[in-house]
Amino acid sequence: MGLKIYLAGKIVDEADAKISVFDHGLLYGDGVFEGIRIYGGKVFLHHPHIDRLYESAKAIRLTIPLKPAEMIAAVEATVKANNLTDGYVRLVVTRGAGSLGLDIRKTSNPQVIIIADTISLYPPETYTKGMHLVTASTIRNHSAALSPRIKSLNYLNNIMARIEGTDAGMVEALMLNHKGEVAECTGDNIFIVKHGVVRTPSRDAGILEGITRNAVMDLAREAGYRVEECSLTRHDLYVADEMFLTGTAAEVVAVVSLDGRSIGNGEPGPITRNLLALFQKLTRSGA
Ligand code: PMP
Repeated sequence: MGLKIYLAGKIVDEADAKISVFDHGLLYGDGVFEGIRIYGGKVFLHHPHIDRLYESAKAIRLTIPLKPAEMIAAVEATVKANNLTDGYVRLVVTRGAGSLGLDIRKTSNPQVIIIADTISLYPPETYTKGMHLVTASTIRNHSAALSPRIKSLNYLNNIMARIEGTDAGMVEALMLNHKGEVAECTGDNIFIVKHGVVRTPSRDAGILEGITRNAVMDLAREAGYRVEECSLTRHDLYVADEMFLTGTAAEVVAVVSLDGRSIGNGEPGPITRNLLALFQKLTRSGA
């Protein structure tokens, strides 16, 4: 039996979840989305994800046909319909069907699609041993062209960089911004630890402001670490004591090498391991 999908205000069988080939989400990547975790039957950090969805939509002048409270209820109903205790929600809002041209005035009926499924995770050894990274030559979108803060359906910038990581045998890749500063990875935010200080690129670096990033910064501050959002170069990364990524799917995962340089002693660092433990406590405690 397939999944139950929320589409056009109803929960339908996966086989019946169909949208127009003229939808601008398909034709142009014109739409926005969210990826959200379900832990212990609860939608984790539901409100921040919904807020980011509506902010992304506002930035692209897309009016979502549901109020935020209705969206929250629709996500919860979809999770319930699929009997999920642990899993992943993909929330998609498209511009809707239109003509073959770019004019958004010719589109109508933005589509809200909610998929709630199980999640495929990195193998457990990625968490114990850490991952290896390379820097992609594809730079992150210039924020004056298309702000990386918009979680849009057009992910080609990230996909091009991810291909470079895959070609190098890695599951992620580092992206720099147009100034050559560290931005983020293709689907995760990046942090370093240097002399006990936790550092991550600020929003100005041209990044998606990750919900996990923000949660981990809060956890780190509560645990007494100094946390700084600042401009980082690749050199800062090469000489860091520790490095880790954050993301909805990845949670907190150590990085042990970048471009062939070992980070610290080449093993997941103590602060990284502590933050992963704190994050797991938060997500597994029914918060
Ligand atoms: N950056 C990019 C480009 C992403 O796609 C994601 C995943 N949504 C993240 C960072 C991490 O964000 P979050 O913690 O909200 O999943």
